[in-house]
Amino acid sequence: MNIDLTKFITHNQGPLDLVLDLIPVPVFAKDAQGIYIACNKAFEEFIGISVDELIGKGVFDLWEESLAKIYHAKDKELLDSPGLQVYESEVINSDGKTITVQFYKSTFTDGDGAVSGLLGVIFDRTKEKALENELKQHAYYDYVTKLLNRRAGIDAMKRLIADCTRNERRLSVAILDIDRFKRINDTYGHEVGDRALRMVRKLAEEVLREYDLIFRHGGDEFILCFPDTGIDEAERIAERFREAFAFSRLESSTGATVRNTVSIGVASYPGHGEDIKSLIKACDEALYAAKHKGRNIVILAD
Ligand code: GH3
Ligand code: MG
Repeated sequence: MNIDLTKFITHNQGPLDLVLDLIPVPVFAKDAQGIYIACNKAFEEFIGISVDELIGKGVFDLWEESLAKIYHAKDKELLDSPGLQVYESEVINSDGKTITVQFYKSTFTDGDGAVSGLLGVIFDRTKEKALENELKQHAYYDYVTKLLNRRAGIDAMKRLIADCTRNERRLSVAILDIDRFKRINDTYGHEVGDRALRMVRKLAEEVLREYDLIFRHGGDEFILCFPDTGIDEAERIAERFREAFAFSRLESSTGATVRNTVSIGVASYPGHGEDIKSLIKACDEALYAAKHKGRNIVILAD
């Protein structure tokens, strides 16, 4: 813009001020020194300060230091290289809520073409961000347990196997399946069944190491991956998991105590398979043997 905007953005309710006040989006203007020179009604509401209190002040007069430093740096960046500036930031609104906003800022010039200030517009992106996070949550995580879902888990497992191949690292894998899960659902209802699934997550947090991977493979079946771990150590971890599950208790809606167990099949890379398919197959066979042996047991692949 090659006009002196400071002449237009005044306090005197000119036509442009009326238009700006009508826009339900916060708009502000600062001079080349970063001093506020104007704002619309939506900006007053957004920051909880009236235009009279705002004009003549800089960011360090109005915001706490860490936020003011960010605003100052961004303003300087824009004034030093004039044009359009778009960025996202977390800010605290007048209700004290942290929200995600997108700033659209642009410099303006005086009649001689010298930069004389900047205009900013703030779009609240909090709802879109929340929606984006929710979509991500659904894309990667299982709704019931909040563990990685099958697709994301398989991807992570593929990456682990590729890393082990590249760096000649060990890896053990286990499949865990809840015993007689149908019976829990049929006897106590699906909500208690869901609680049993969530128990797997809770115990995983207690038993697994930070770098182990667990995901819901489907139904009542979970896959666990133990990087840099031989089969004997993996068996010990699986055994701790089995025992912890056998000792855990769920409560039904009538207050009855529900006991439950899991069976686990364990295999290791590269002995039982060098790719995801053959490793899962080896675990599945071991799991099948565990179910056949009467359940509540950890079995290693042959
Ligand atoms: P087994 O000891 O041989 O594993 O017997 P099981 O009854 O556990 O048999 P299976 O593993 O085949 O049962 C899986 C059941 O899991 C069937 C299905 O109704 C139930 N299920 C699958 N997804 C969910 C879920 O999200 N919530 C609940 N509550 N049940 C689920
Ligand atoms: Mg089962």
